[in-house]
Amino acid sequence: MTALRELYQEVILDHNKSPRNYYRMENADRKIDGYNPLCGDHFTLFVKLENDRIKDISFEGAGCAISKASASVMSSAVKGKTISEAEELFHKFHKLMIGEADPMENIESLGKLAAFSGVTEYPARVKCATLAWHTLHTALTTKEHRATTE
Ligand code: ZN
Repeated sequence: MTALRELYQEVILDHNKSPRNYYRMENADRKIDGYNPLCGDHFTLFVKLENDRIKDISFEGAGCAISKASASVMSSAVKGKTISEAEELFHKFHKLMIGEADPMENIESLGKLAAFSGVTEYPARVKCATLAWHTLHTALTTKEHRATTE
């Protein structure tokens, strides 16, 4: 687990310092607010779709290091993917966060997302790590404009 712990530190630090896809997107197809009342994390997610593919994705807002890093890694991971591929990744990540998947067994398909398994040691922070994913899931599967972790 040491390698994963190091990866966790590295990914959170890196993506918090220089978040990827962090900007307000004009003419997005989906714009949705995600809110985690437990921690106060609040992000807006922008998605541009081309047929069933996520052509572009970005986010902006404010939150703790874990929520920001998770949104950054998530945006990089799903950019260019189809909606069903992104949904599959969402389910894998969710399983990882509730301790139902072994990060080492899934490290190839999860990549940097596996690093967030470190968060399962801090149950109060799990919602910080999953906020961006719940927001994306809501954006891709509903017409809602707001998603919360509650
Ligand atoms: Zn948080």
